[in-house]
This record gives sequence, structure tokens and C-alpha cells, in this order.
Amino acid sequence: MSSHPVHPESTTRAPLDASRLKVEKNPKAGTPPPPEQLVFGQTFTDHMLVVPWTAEGGWGEPKIQAYSPLSLQPSSIIFHYAPSLFEGLKAYKNPKGEVRLFRPDMNAARMNRSAERISLPTFDGDELVKLLKKLVEIDANWVPEKEGYSLYLRPTLIGTQPSLGVGETKEALLFVIMSPVGPYYSSVVKPVALEANPERVRAWPGGTGDAKLGANYGPCILPQREAAKKGYQQNLWLFGDEHYLTEVGTMNLFVVLKNDDGSYEVVTPPLNGMILPGVTRDSVLGLLRAHESGQSPLSNLPKIHVSEREIKMQELQDAAAQGKLVEVFGAGTAAVISPVDRIGYQGKDIHVPVTSSGFGPVAEVMLNTLSAIQWGKVEHPWSVPVSK
Ligand SMILES: *Cc1c(COP(=O)(O)O)cnc(C)c1O
Repeated sequence: MSSHPVHPESTTRAPLDASRLKVEKNPKAGTPPPPEQLVFGQTFTDHMLVVPWTAEGGWGEPKIQAYSPLSLQPSSIIFHYAPSLFEGLKAYKNPKGEVRLFRPDMNAARMNRSAERISLPTFDGDELVKLLKKLVEIDANWVPEKEGYSLYLRPTLIGTQPSLGVGETKEALLFVIMSPVGPYYSSVVKPVALEANPERVRAWPGGTGDAKLGANYGPCILPQREAAKKGYQQNLWLFGDEHYLTEVGTMNLFVVLKNDDGSYEVVTPPLNGMILPGVTRDSVLGLLRAHESGQSPLSNLPKIHVSEREIKMQELQDAAAQGKLVEVFGAGTAAVISPVDRIGYQGKDIHVPVTSSGFGPVAEVMLNTLSAIQWGKVEHPWSVPVSK
């Protein structure tokens, strides 16, 4: 946590404490719909977690209760100035029936950094992870067993005090809802086409692009619709007169370049304040660095050098023209890995190679390696059973 707490007197307030959890089972708990019928983010499980917070008392009693509407005053600050942040992580059930979360500590830590940025209360991340595990255990029948399916968890934190004053948060609500989701790729992988339009900017130095704040996402819908009208699925977000690449849609960006000796350079923009520090990004970097150092080599990949560095559109264009562009892909919890086959820029399309599988070579190995860890096919500390 920061050495300059947003709430200096927080030591006198109750901390978030999972041992105070109260569970009120949903009497109408039902049977989850067949996984094949799932539409992303539209079906929710029987239960949710809620934890209130006040400036005087700190964190209240955590409660798992029926998924149900919230009741807030129209004057509640959330509706006016958008003090709101969220997280996204997934639970997976393997054929042995074990349910696992993927690196939930990373989400709890990022949630605290987002909270600091928007003056919402922070908490002990380990306590949140305990509560998440409990919630998933209670709705474990909602975690689809089919490979490729998962249960998406959406932790959210909002400022709630009924007041039009723009000021420090006095009341807040943390809640977690969960939605079973189908595979991102049904059978064939469809690489996405991106529009790189320098007129639209997602994040800027000193802004909030590195925090998962609700307010960052609404403004991205119009640019996405503009791109869609021109036949591109997502935005490739650029920054500055030099047209630096930053992110793709709501995913982190990876560009793979070929060196003269046949080895690859895997480039992702550095965490310079404009990039959301993705858990998937960190995991891809971790796997590739373990390959690079020889500590844990990945089969089917050549020698790789991993670079967290800035990259401009000019460099991407030159690499494509010289046959040195190996692949471009996005990384994020929803799709895990999303290959790119085309980038519209300044009235022309840059063609990005994909193999017959729909992926580039690095993207395919990353998806397979991460999936194996997420499903617990291989033991890995990133995959955390909920029942421990
Ligand atoms: C959530 C998000 C990501 C991906 O983060 P993960 O932790 O990997 O899901 C990347 N970019 C943006 C803008 C995001 O909101």
C-alpha cells in the first residue's frame, strides 16, 4: 500500500475481515442453464458477495446472499462522478471436479491500486481472496465443467454516499457477482482486425489508463463502433504524435518481430502509466522469460528475447514491409490470447501473418500453456484451488 494513505485515519477503522462472513443461502437457488446457451455476461449465479464500507466504521460484515438488485439513492455519488472500479478473473473446473482460480492475488492487488487512484477504500487483498474462494465454493455447481468454459468473477467497488459534493468517499460498497461463460473460440479461431486511429486516445500520461476504473471504458464504445463501421472489430489504441502502440481493445498488446538470425523479439509496451497492468500480460511475460533464460523452455518456439519497450506504428509498418513481422496478439482474461490478422492505419491495411490454426507461433504456445495451467492439467502456483 502507498506510504500516503488516501484515508490517513484508516487504522482506527475495521479492516476487511473474511472471518466475519455471514452466508444467507438463496432459497430460490436453481439449476444453471446448459453451458451451450450462455451469452457472455448475461447469466448470473445464485449468490453474490457484498461488503459495505463507511468512513467512520471501516469495512462492515461481508455477506454472501442471493444475487439481487442494489438499492441506492438517486443522489448516490456513483451515478454522478463515477467512483467505480472493477476486476475480472475466472474460475475453472477440471475433469476431477476441482475448481481453481487463476492468480487471484494479482487481481486483489490491482483492485487496491485502482481504489487508491479513485479515492475508494483499500483493504487486505488476502481477505478478499478468501471471500472470493468462499463465494465460488458456494456456487461451485455454476462453474461449467466443459473444457473452454469457465466462471467469470466480477469484483466491483463503488462510492455510494448520497451527496452531490465532489469529495472524498464517505460510503462505499464492494460486491462480487459471477457469470458462467462459454469458450471465446467456439471451434475456429477468428483473428481480429484492428483499426489504429490516432484521433481517438484511450489513456494519457498522468491519467487513469493504468487503473481498472469504470470511467475508462464507456468512452471507448464510440471509437469501437466507428471501427466496426469500417469493418474492424477492435481499436488499436495509439498515443502521441509518434503513434506509439499501447493496447488493443481491452487487452494488452504483444508484437513479435523476427531477428536476422531467426530468433524472435517479443515486444509489449512498458507499464508507463498508460497501460493496464494485465494479469495475462504478466503471465505471458513470465512464461516467455522462463523460456528465454532456459529455466523452463517451451517446445515449438525458437530463441526469444522479451522486450518491455515502446514501439511505434512506423516500426510495425517497416517490419511488415520487410517480412520481419511474425505476429500480433492481444492478451486478457476474457479471450486469454487473441490473434490479429489486419491493422487499418492511415487508409491502408497492414497484413499480419497468422498460421492455418488462426494464431501466430507464440500466441498458440501461450494459449495452450496458459490453458493447461488454468485447468490444472499441470500443477502450477498460479492456479489456486478454491477449497484450500
Ligand atoms: C482488464 C484489462 C486488460 C487485461 O487484464 P487481465 O488482467 O489480463 O484481464 C488489459 N487492458 C485493459 C484496458 C483492461 O481493462
